[in-house]
Amino acid sequence: MIELKHISKIYQMGKEEFYALNDIDLNINLGDFVAIVGPSGSGKSTLMHIMGGLDKPTKGNVLIEGNDISQFKDKRMAKYRSQHTGFIFQNFNLEPTQSSLENVMMPLIFSGVSKSKRIEMAKRSLEMVGLLNKLNNKPTELSGGQRQRVAIARALVNNPKIIFADEPTGNLDSNSGTQIMELLKDLNNKGYTVIMVTHNVEQAKKANQVITIKDGKIEKVSKNEN
Ligand code: ADP
Ligand code: ADP
Repeated sequence: MIELKHISKIYQMGKEEFYALNDIDLNINLGDFVAIVGPSGSGKSTLMHIMGGLDKPTKGNVLIEGNDISQFKDKRMAKYRSQHTGFIFQNFNLEPTQSSLENVMMPLIFSGVSKSKRIEMAKRSLEMVGLLNKLNNKPTELSGGQRQRVAIARALVNNPKIIFADEPTGNLDSNSGTQIMELLKDLNNKGYTVIMVTHNVEQAKKANQVITIKDGKIEKVSKNEN
C-alpha cells in the first residue's frame, strides 16, 4: 500500500507561503490503476513526484509498504527509485543520440549486472512494449508513440512495482495516445501499479481510481467499474 499522511508542499514566495499541496491524506493499493486529474497548477505533478520519491514533502509522510520514503536521504532515495519505480514523461526524455536498446539499458548502468545481461533485460523490456524490431533505431527514427513505448520499456527494465506516468499521451495524436493507454492498462493487468497524471477525462476512465485535485487539496476520490 501507498499511504500519504498529512502531505503538504510549501513554497516560499517572498514573504508568502504558497501551498502547492495542502494536508493531503490518501491511500492507494498496490495493483491499482490510478488517475490524478485536476486543473493546471492544482498540484498533480507535485503529488506524483512526492509519491515517486522525485520530490520531498515539506510536511508529512509517504509510506510505501510501510517504508517512509520521505525520510530517505538522497542516495537511498535514488537507489529506491531505481529499484522500485519507473517514470514516464510527456516529452519521453529519451537520449537522442542513443538507440532504443541503449536508452532502455540506461537505468541498469549502476545495477552491477554484466553487459550481456543488461542487453538481455533491455530486449525483454522492449519485447513487452512490442518494439523488438526497433532495437537499433534512434528516437528521431521513431514515431511519437514508438518513442513513448521505448520510454515505457526503460521504465520497466528494473522490474519496478509502480509505474508513474506524467501526462504520458500529452504529446501524442489520439490514435497513438489510445495505444499507449492500452499498453498501460495491459501492464496494470499484469500486476504493475500505474499512477498517472492526466488532463484527459476519457483516459481517466481507464483507471480504476480517479483522484481529483484542486488548489493542492483532494476534491474527490472516485472508483470506476471496469
Ligand atoms: P499541475 O501538475 O497540477 O499542473 P504542479 O504540481 O506542477 O501542478 O504545480 C502546483 C503548483 O505549485 C503550481 O501553482 C506551480 O506553479 C507551483 N510550483 C511547482 N513547483 C514550484 C516551485 N519549484 N516553486 C514554486 N512554485 C512551484
Ligand atoms: P508540467 O508540464 O508537468 O505541469 P511544469 O511546467 O508545471 O510541468 O513545471 C516544470 C518544472 O518547473 C517542475 O520541475 C516544477 O517544479 C517547476 N515549476 C513549476 N512551476 C513553478 C514555479 N511557479 N516556480 C518555480 N518552479 C516551478
